[in-house]
Amino acid sequence: MIEERLQEVRSNIEASKAKRDASFDHDVLLVAVTKNHDIYAMREAIDAGVTDIGENRIQEAKEKFETLDRQVTWHLIGHLQTNKAKQAVKMFDLIHSVDTLHLAEAIDKAAAGIGKVQKVLVQVNLAQEESKSGIYEDELMDLLHKVDEMENLQLMGLMCIAPNYEDVEECRPLFAKMRKIFDKVKEISWQTANIKYLSMGMTHDYTIAVEEGANVVRVGTGIFGPRQY
Ligand SMILES: *Cc1c(COP(=O)(O)O)cnc(C)c1O
Repeated sequence: MIEERLQEVRSNIEASKAKRDASFDHDVLLVAVTKNHDIYAMREAIDAGVTDIGENRIQEAKEKFETLDRQVTWHLIGHLQTNKAKQAVKMFDLIHSVDTLHLAEAIDKAAAGIGKVQKVLVQVNLAQEESKSGIYEDELMDLLHKVDEMENLQLMGLMCIAPNYEDVEECRPLFAKMRKIFDKVKEISWQTANIKYLSMGMTHDYTIAVEEGANVVRVGTGIFGPRQY
């Protein structure tokens, strides 16, 4: 089942890539979101070709991290509390959810403590939804510059979560705007940042996100089916 769904997601991504602007030349990295799915599902997905997995809670990720007997790239996609930064840097290759200076400082310090340069994305709250994490656009550049200056962080790009619109097409202008911001950010001459990743799109909206220029998508339900809580 997982293998078939994975194939379907991959072919949807290819179809969306074919529709998009030729200037978007990146491959699209599929992050399989395994939150609330067990280690068996994870193994099955990895054996079917998944190379990158996403988790959004530290405790759940830790249990899996200690049990999983497969080599994968770990992505933290959920909100991170500063008091869990130490645990996060031990596990995750890329943290998608940096959205305050305070959190960036905590991750920088935690990474320094284990002699690591932690790769991060800054999460943008483009629709300015109060209930969601992410920095607002008007404060974005300032945060990016500060992250770029931190010795134990390497800024790799931007992440966003679109609002849960009833009509998913409403995400499109938002994703297009994110792509514009991403292109602008890429042009800046950074000290250590390597702006590569634009992480946007989940099960219900990843095809639109890819069409609008996403090069990282985070898909859970589309691969593993509905989560049982
Ligand atoms: C859960 C989650 C996803 C995946 O959601 P699906 O709708 O199951 O694809 C993607 N991104 C973030 C930040 C998430 O928390």
